[in-house]
Amino acid sequence: MNSRQTAALPPVTLHDPRSAPLPLVFDSPHSGFAFPPELAPAAPLEALATSCDAFVDELYGKAPAHGCTLIAATFPRWLIDPNRARDDIDPELLAAPWPGPLQISDKSRSGMGLIRRLALPGVPVHGRRLDVAEVEGLIRDYYDPYHEALRSRLDALHSRFGSVWHVDCHSMKSRGNAMNIDAGRERPDFVIGNRDGSTCDGDFIDCVVGTLRGFGYRVGVNDPYKGAELVRRYSNPAAGRHSLQIEVNRALYMDETSRERHQGFAALEARLERLIVALTDFVRERIAPGRSGRAA
Ligand SMILES: [Zn+2]
Repeated sequence: MNSRQTAALPPVTLHDPRSAPLPLVFDSPHSGFAFPPELAPAAPLEALATSCDAFVDELYGKAPAHGCTLIAATFPRWLIDPNRARDDIDPELLAAPWPGPLQISDKSRSGMGLIRRLALPGVPVHGRRLDVAEVEGLIRDYYDPYHEALRSRLDALHSRFGSVWHVDCHSMKSRGNAMNIDAGRERPDFVIGNRDGSTCDGDFIDCVVGTLRGFGYRVGVNDPYKGAELVRRYSNPAAGRHSLQIEVNRALYMDETSRERHQGFAALEARLERLIVALTDFVRERIAPGRSGRAA
């Protein structure tokens, strides 16, 4: 029995623009929770929940009303992580050698590769090694469909408008744990990443950072999060493909212990809608007819 037969939900939800489409795409790769029963984890779900970006798809839920596309994973990041390279597989997870080359990164070495090994420091996700066929099934049934949904939408908008802007949406614990590169350090309200300037033009990240700082938020840039596979893979600023990552501090909208939304959720959602509107203005100006030959 493979995971496709038992998965309760399609792996990806795609929300089309509900007004005139703009080449602006938001994606939320870590806000899902549905997993197939045969891959039920050994770790307690409370331990795994800290790896999930709960409610992030809802925080950006107004994006389609403003002409944007919103794509969200329905599966949890611990099952398979769309924000890792496809071959960043931790051999310690596997019951048999992987039948191909692997690129094992620091993320895999710290237990947070394509397939998560550790829920929390010292807490394994699975109580066993996974069969190669199980991991191949996860790539086929979850990882590849997520990337295909995002890639095909970005490509279609790029060919129609000549440029496309992509916002990869995440949330972060208010303080890192021992598996994180900033263990124990208190985090700002937002961290915006463009891999040190390589995944988008400066005006795009300046618009996001300036808008959020204008609301009074503390905003870090490329520290401690620079962005990972999703902004790396789809960006090419010289070709009009711009990607950046937004990490929002969970303490702004949820109780990190009970994992419930708290009274701050509505205010944050409203400010993120204002950010979405600021970005649609930004995009509209750059696709306007007559501007530098870029418009379709
Ligand atoms: Zn995330």
